[in-house]
Amino acid sequence: MAFALLLALLVAAAPAQAREALSVRWEPRVVRQGDVAMVFVTGLPDAKAVEGSLAGQPLTFFPYGDGYAALAGIDLEARPGMATWRVGVMDARDRPLKASGRLQIRARKFPVQRLTLPREMVELDAPTLQRVEEESKRLRTLYATITPERHWRGRFAKPVGVPDAGEGFGARRIINGQPRAPHAGLDYSADAGTPVVGANAGHVALVAEYFFPGRLVVLDHGLGLYTLYFHLERADVSDGDRVERGQIIGRVGASGRATGPHLHFAAHLRQTRIDPALLLQLRLPE
Ligand SMILES: [Zn+2]
Repeated sequence: MAFALLLALLVAAAPAQAREALSVRWEPRVVRQGDVAMVFVTGLPDAKAVEGSLAGQPLTFFPYGDGYAALAGIDLEARPGMATWRVGVMDARDRPLKASGRLQIRARKFPVQRLTLPREMVELDAPTLQRVEEESKRLRTLYATITPERHWRGRFAKPVGVPDAGEGFGARRIINGQPRAPHAGLDYSADAGTPVVGANAGHVALVAEYFFPGRLVVLDHGLGLYTLYFHLERADVSDGDRVERGQIIGRVGASGRATGPHLHFAAHLRQTRIDPALLLQLRLPE
C-alpha cells in the first residue's frame, strides 16, 4: 500500500511533458592561448533568452542554424588549465534551463622577437609616456564597449591582397634588450600604398593617429568583436561609417612605431586578444 502510494506520488511529480534537451557543443573542444572558439547551443528552437560565460567572462549568443552560437576569445596570455563555462536558457514556457562544464586551455608556444629600434621610440619622455597611456586607455575603453547587434556575417577576409600569410602573433618581444608586452597582432609585409580592406562588415569605431599604432582604423563588428588596422599611410573612412567586408578602409604605411611599411592587423573579442589568423579560418554561413 505504501509502495503504491509512493509510486503514485512519483508519477504526479513527473513533468507533464518531457523537457527539451539542452545541448552545448564547443568547437574546438580543446583551445589554446589566442584561439577563437565557437559554442553552439541546440535543442531549444524557441528559447526566449540564451546567456552564458566562460571563465567568468560573458558570452554573447546570436541565433544560428536551429539554435544559438557565440564566439569565445581565449586571450593570448590566458592561464593554461581548465576554464569553467556555463550556459543558461529561458525556454518558450519561461522555464530556466542550465548547463555547465569545463574547457581545457592549452599553452601555445609563441616566438621570441628581438628588435632594435631608435632609442626615442623605446625610452619615452614623461609627456610621451602619458600620451601612450591615455591612448591605450582609450582603446581599452573602446574594446569594452559591446554593441548589441551582430554586423559580421560569414567568413572574414584577409585585410591585404599580398601572398604573405602574416607573422608575429603572440611574439614575446625583446626591444633593445628589454622584455616588452607580447605582440597582439599579425604583421603583413606589403608595399606602402597597398589597399587595406575591412575583414568583415561593421562600423568604423575609431580613426586616429596614435604614438605606437600610427594612423589607425578600428572596426566594430558588434557583440564585442573589433578588428584593428595599424601603421596606415592614410585612412579612407571616418568615424561612424558603415563598412562592408572587402571595402577599402585605408592604405599600408609605416606610421607610428614601425621598422618599415607593413599592416598590423589585430582582433579583440570581449577584451581578449585573439589570433586574427584564426578569425580568418572560421567558416560560418553568410
Ligand atoms: Zn605589429
